[in-house]
Amino acid sequence: MKAEIIAVGTELLVGDILNTNAQFLSRRLFALGIDVYYQTVVGDNPDRLTKAVSLAFSRADTVIFSGGLGPTDDDLTKETVASYFGVPLLFHEEIAEQITSYLHRPCSESNKKQAYIPEGAFILENKRGTAPGVILEHEGKTAILLPGPPRELLPMFSEMVEPYLKARSGFVMAERMVRLFGIGESSVGDMIRDLMESANPSVAPYAKDSEVTLRIAAKAQTQEEAEALIKEMHERLKERLGAYIYGYDEQDMVTTTAALLLKKGLTIACAESCTAGLLAGALGNIPGISACLNESVVTYSNEAKIKYLGVLPETLSAHGAVSRQTAGEMAEGIRKTAGADVGVSITGIAGPDGGTPEKPVGLVYVGVSIADAVTVRELHLIGTREKIRQAAVLHALNEIRTRLLAET
Ligand code: ATP
Ligand code: MG
Repeated sequence: MKAEIIAVGTELLVGDILNTNAQFLSRRLFALGIDVYYQTVVGDNPDRLTKAVSLAFSRADTVIFSGGLGPTDDDLTKETVASYFGVPLLFHEEIAEQITSYLHRPCSESNKKQAYIPEGAFILENKRGTAPGVILEHEGKTAILLPGPPRELLPMFSEMVEPYLKARSGFVMAERMVRLFGIGESSVGDMIRDLMESANPSVAPYAKDSEVTLRIAAKAQTQEEAEALIKEMHERLKERLGAYIYGYDEQDMVTTTAALLLKKGLTIACAESCTAGLLAGALGNIPGISACLNESVVTYSNEAKIKYLGVLPETLSAHGAVSRQTAGEMAEGIRKTAGADVGVSITGIAGPDGGTPEKPVGLVYVGVSIADAVTVRELHLIGTREKIRQAAVLHALNEIRTRLLAET
């Protein structure tokens, strides 16, 4: 089954509103195993809408329309689709009565327009507005017309259109997000080029915030078959990229690392310089983190690093605040001061100023101290100040995670 989406409305074309209905519909159609190859946005213009309808039906058997079902003259989706199919619009007294009871006043001439439905169509009752939705089947083609306001379209789709499409699709979809860290999108592409050519299950990479996510999607007649396809592809990805995989689906880096700390019953304390509390803030977002987050200090100045973490003044004068040695002493210092199992430190140059040829912007050290063994990772991050600070936090969480996994 192939479907397309046509969102109608000049306000969408001129950029006044975002086409969130198309995003919603695409996600839901995907989940139903229905292929969507095109989305169209067209203004409130009957000629251009007719052209869009004709083009869409030349490629797809089902077209879902959003918007243009209102009472005003510029709302013309129903009229245009009916005339494209050569089907007359018929007045429905019961819809006029529903509109009257919804509005608590007699149905105006404009509202009466909404009581006209293409002959032979299914009517989708609108409990949250005046415009009913319409499903019109005609010579192997199906037009599904939904009102534009999301608060009307979303429930109408979920309650009435989804069951209708589910019965017709005959397929189900399953998907799994595989989350990778420490590898770029292009390297991932090189390593799984052949797998990315597979159509079912399909594998597609998404890069965001210094991470790559692979989305495996499979279509089958039963959920079990779809899951089996996913599992098979997942195994092949593990063979190639296993070392970089840290989580699945909703598990992002902070939830994964926090879950590991909680599971192992370990406490953690952080000492942050250039990230100034972002790491502690990220951990603080996790419910139940108080069981392992002991304390966290922001030690921006050299004095603070000496005072709160016991970093040696000689270390700072010999190597500087942004150095492997300082990061190591910071991590060990906070672990001891806090009496925690894990001490973690971040010190670096977030920019845009402050870089030198020896220590450029983006140079960050992450230290992790566990049971007297201190490891320090040197990072060369790129991007804006904000990006560098966010990436430093992710790397720190990943360092903690890999150290904890190596401990067992
Ligand atoms: P109405 O009875 O409100 O006129 P309608 O079916 O004619 O409903 P439109 O006039 O096209 O729908 O849109 C009404 C409002 O719904 C828009 O002003 C906008 O806020 C929202 N809307 C319309 N289309 C979309 C869309 N594709 N994505 C998100 N919001 C939308
Ligand atoms: Mg309207």
